[in-house]
Amino acid sequence: MTSTNASYLIVGAGVFGVSTAYHLIQKYPNASVTLVDRDAYDAESRVAASWDWNKVVRADYDDKVYCKLALEAQEIFKSDPLWRPFFHQTGVYWTCRSDYAQNVINNHKELGRNDDIIALPVSEARKLYGGIFDDADYTGVKEVLINRASGWAAAGDALRAVTKKCLELGVKYVTADVATLDFNGRGSCTGIKTKSGEILSATHVIIAAGAFTPTLLEWSAKNSGNAGLRAGERILAAGITTGMAQLTQEQHAKYKDMPVGFQGYTPDEALYWKYPPTKDGELKWWGSKIFTNTREVLPGRHISSPPPTHDYNQWKVPGPLKQDIVEARNLWYGPKSAEWNMTKHRICWDAFTTTSDFIISPHSDSKGLYVATCGSFHGYKFFPVLGKYITQMLDGELEPELMEKWAWDRQRPDSSQNVEYPNCEMKHLLQPSAKL
Ligand SMILES: Cc1cc2nc3c(=O)[nH]c(=O)nc-3n(C[C@H](O)[C@H](O)[C@H](O)COP(=O)(O)OP(=O)(O)OC[C@H]3O[C@@H](n4cnc5c(N)ncnc54)[C@H](O)[C@@H]3O)c2cc1C
Repeated sequence: MTSTNASYLIVGAGVFGVSTAYHLIQKYPNASVTLVDRDAYDAESRVAASWDWNKVVRADYDDKVYCKLALEAQEIFKSDPLWRPFFHQTGVYWTCRSDYAQNVINNHKELGRNDDIIALPVSEARKLYGGIFDDADYTGVKEVLINRASGWAAAGDALRAVTKKCLELGVKYVTADVATLDFNGRGSCTGIKTKSGEILSATHVIIAAGAFTPTLLEWSAKNSGNAGLRAGERILAAGITTGMAQLTQEQHAKYKDMPVGFQGYTPDEALYWKYPPTKDGELKWWGSKIFTNTREVLPGRHISSPPPTHDYNQWKVPGPLKQDIVEARNLWYGPKSAEWNMTKHRICWDAFTTTSDFIISPHSDSKGLYVATCGSFHGYKFFPVLGKYITQMLDGELEPELMEKWAWDRQRPDSSQNVEYPNCEMKHLLQPSAKL
């Protein structure tokens, strides 16, 4: 049942959900494909991690599976008329304190790529790009990886355009808050129930709700009496602060051609990313704190979940998190950035696994239910191809290596080797004395 009589309900219209809809409707033009999201796809403001000013689109991975997948996605960003307008090939500049640069270069060689990718000693690298990164913190840096084939995408604009394309191809879009999954008497998932009480049914229900996935599964476990639905240790919701400065014309001229910048990448150090300015001269970067928000989502059930307001309080960024942004700025741009005019702060929520692997899998505790999420801070760049693999998973055609890597039920190591795993609790950052 994969073509005419199948119906697909996708909860969440971020990159995992929209890419799934895009690939499904092209493979099965007569199938019913519906996206359900709490926010309209063209809303002024959305909670989706995928809805953002910009996201890096790079293939600089030391994991060969993601390296290959990212190259595949990047090709589409560069060549397909639907995606191309949103891609900016600025390159990336990555200060490496481990063997990361050589591992990435080896992967590219093994995959037969001749991209313009090199590792330079610090003394040479810091002279590049007019010396704009000369003031960065190079303590312990072994070499700098430069990949001129990578770049960034205008993330929210691309998400809106691809969603619009899906609608033109016949996908339905329902703006509603999903309160729970819906089940038949035998435990199979048959649809969803919205907060206003509406029930939508389908043969396939795909949860692509990003950071909200564990909460939705908790609520659904209660509603169905099936505790096996819960995410448990598999998925952790966490937030990161982003900040933006409005550059003056003179500052903009200096930074406008900069590559995406990365600092870090060993298990015991922070990771900082910087994006080139938007066309309006706004420069964005992240803080170093990736924080959980443990709260009671049901009586007696405490898990990490975005704040329980419609917009996750994403624009209400407390002082200590703004300070995190200042510290990250100073580490990269040095003292000259102290005078920059900070205009925007946002907390962006994503779903994480300890290995940073996605979960793209049938849910083992309910027939008809599938999970496609856990971007783990790096999922956006795969937007053009995620749905291809999610469709393969739905059709039982995913190759064994990917099936195992992205399985709902698999052994996962602890997070100690993962710098991009949540490293603190939000309330402790806001009131440092609370953890004493
Ligand atoms: C600060 C930050 C920077 C990042 N930078 C990069 C980068 O540079 N490059 C990169 O590749 N990746 C990056 N990522 C990761 C990437 O953004 C995410 O992994 C990816 O966007 C996740 O997509 P998603 O579809 O799983 O979730 P989302 O985009 O969050 O979408 C989930 C959707 O589900 C909806 N939803 C949730 N609950 C409900 C409900 N109950 N009812 C209805 N709808 C619901 C939400 O409204 C939302 O639209 C970054 C992430 C963050 C947080």
